[in-house]
Amino acid sequence: MTEQREGGCLCGNLRYVATGEPRRVTACHCKFCQKRSAAAFSVHAWFDEDKVAFIGDSLSVYQQSSDETGNWLRVNFCNKCGSTLMLTGEKMNGIRLMTVGSMDDPDSIAISAHVWARSAPRWLTMPQNLPCYETSSGAGLLRTSGPKD
Ligand SMILES: [Zn+2]
Ligand SMILES: [Zn+2]
Repeated sequence: MTEQREGGCLCGNLRYVATGEPRRVTACHCKFCQKRSAAAFSVHAWFDEDKVAFIGDSLSVYQQSSDETGNWLRVNFCNKCGSTLMLTGEKMNGIRLMTVGSMDDPDSIAISAHVWARSAPRWLTMPQNLPCYETSSGAGLLRTSGPKD
């Protein structure tokens, strides 16, 4: 049995189906995700691009280069309601980061790590039971407790 997860934007203009289990699921606390989501952090399920199928209108794209690496990141969103459904990146070839907040059942997915914890707000307490990285998950493990303790 192949698991499928469905999701979509706020207005229903765009829907998607993601098939199988994601490679990993990260909660990202970077400044880019804070600004582009207008939230404290964003949770992303990493799927191979051939595992995600969109239904409906085409996605709008906003592209920005990373302050740190200069690599481009693309925010893929609904042009009616503004919901971001997917992120893609220059150095993430073939990977689609699906926003877990856009999934119909975000509870069907478990976070595997917290990344870019150095820019998390001080009032946010990181869970004890998950790896927590100061920057990307390729960097050293920071801690498994609060972000600024
Ligand atoms: Zn929409
Ligand atoms: Zn981020």
